[in-house]
Amino acid sequence: MYQCKNCLKNINANISSFLFILSSRPKQYPYRLKAHWCKRSDSNQQKTKSSNTQELPSNFNKTFVKEKIKPSTDPGGKGLEIEKEIQVCPDCYHDLNKQHS
Ligand SMILES: [Zn+2]
Repeated sequence: MYQCKNCLKNINANISSFLFILSSRPKQYPYRLKAHWCKRSDSNQQKTKSSNTQELPSNFNKTFVKEKIKPSTDPGGKGLEIEKEIQVCPDCYHDLNKQHS
C-alpha cells in the first residue's frame, strides 16, 4: 500500500508503483584508471580446462590468480543524473508520460 504523489490517493496492495522522473541534470563522469576488474577470456585458458581437467597448473598460487584477473579503465563521459522523482500509481504514470512526450 502506498500513496500516489500525483493524485494523493491511497493505492491498495498488489498494485505496482512507478517512479516518474520530474527533472534530471547533466552529469560529467570522470575517467577512472583500473576501475573494473574482470577475468581474462583467453582461448588458451579454455584449452587447458578441457584437456587437463584433473591436473592443476604448476604455478597455481596467488600469482596464477593475478595473471587471470585483468584491470580495465572506465572512460567516463557525459550522462544524465536524476534530480527529482516521485512514486506514482499506474494510471498517473501513463498520464504523465503522455503529457511529457
Ligand atoms: Zn495517481
